[in-house]
Amino acid sequence: MALEAAGRDIIRLSVGEPDFDTPAHIKQAAIEAIQAGATKYTALDGTGGLKAAIQQKFEHENHLSYPLDQILVSNGAKQSCFNLCLSLLDQGDEAIIPAPYWVSYPEMVRMAEAEPVFVKTTAASGFLMQPAQLAAAITPATRLLILNSPGNPTGAVYPREALEALGDVLREHPKIVVMSDEIYEHIQWASGPFTSFAEANPALFDRTLTINGVSKAYAMTGWRVGYAAGPKELIRAMAAIQSQSTTNACSISQAAATAALNGDKSSVQKMCTEFKARHDSVQPLIDAIDGVRCAPGDGAFYLFVDIKDALKHKGLSDDIVFCEGLLEETGVALVPGTAFGAPGYVRISFAASLEILKDAIARIRRFAES
Ligand code: PLP
Repeated sequence: MALEAAGRDIIRLSVGEPDFDTPAHIKQAAIEAIQAGATKYTALDGTGGLKAAIQQKFEHENHLSYPLDQILVSNGAKQSCFNLCLSLLDQGDEAIIPAPYWVSYPEMVRMAEAEPVFVKTTAASGFLMQPAQLAAAITPATRLLILNSPGNPTGAVYPREALEALGDVLREHPKIVVMSDEIYEHIQWASGPFTSFAEANPALFDRTLTINGVSKAYAMTGWRVGYAAGPKELIRAMAAIQSQSTTNACSISQAAATAALNGDKSSVQKMCTEFKARHDSVQPLIDAIDGVRCAPGDGAFYLFVDIKDALKHKGLSDDIVFCEGLLEETGVALVPGTAFGAPGYVRISFAASLEILKDAIARIRRFAES
């Protein structure tokens, strides 16, 4: 930001939001909601209209049946995750988090005074946690498993069989709740259809919290609407936390989210097609840079890039120094892998036009190879 303010030509590939505008029919629904006076508090857990739309979304897209009292609308999926951590975890509890992970998970676990337990996944296994790794990480203190598919920062997508295999391990451990963060559900191009964790594991339905939202699928990051569905007691506890902190999600945003979930989905498809086209264009270009390895991803809008050889070549100590140098010398902003629990990597967001991406990759090449 400071460099931009100083007039530098900065390319920010560090952002975690689609570079598309919210579709017109969704904005229109918000305008109409304002004009109709939907400007008051709503029910704490969401408007009847939005909750019904979420219920149908789960039914049609994920083959999951949730009664309305098992659904809670929040101010973004981030608040859904936070509500869950605060209501479920106590001091001394452990939460298993596959690494690389979304930066907020460990901090949320720590804010609940519990301990994050990281399970390192590798590019060789497609950044997917293996059932034996999960089994080895479980202790008597394990209370939560956090899964995120499609994943930020790797773009990894768990196929149905992989989710079933993790579920088989968890069946032996009835105390463990699964938080399945599916916020990137509609941005993926894996070979099979997207599978929700609870759909793959009906036996674990009663201890799975499914989290989703409109931020990524409908390019609505600023509107702040996410939702969680799961066991009644947990949803009730999460609602109690929300009741004493933020109350309901914005009434106008809820009207917009209702229109998003109930309305035409062609914009979702179009955006996903565009993300895949960019992925397919830039992944080989990045992989061709000396000292850099970039495996293809299956979803989200990130590539997670191994820069360990480039660090050696340039005599740099770590990915943080790499990102600082890259920004200073070339004006390209990336996020160091260390932030996601994976030193030696950088995350490149392709939520930018192909022209901008190609310019950025040329600059990264110059920096990495010099
Ligand atoms: N979960 C993951 C994995 C994310 O990457 C993000 C946003 O970057 C979120 C949740 C938060 O989404 P929301 O905008 O709905 O709070």
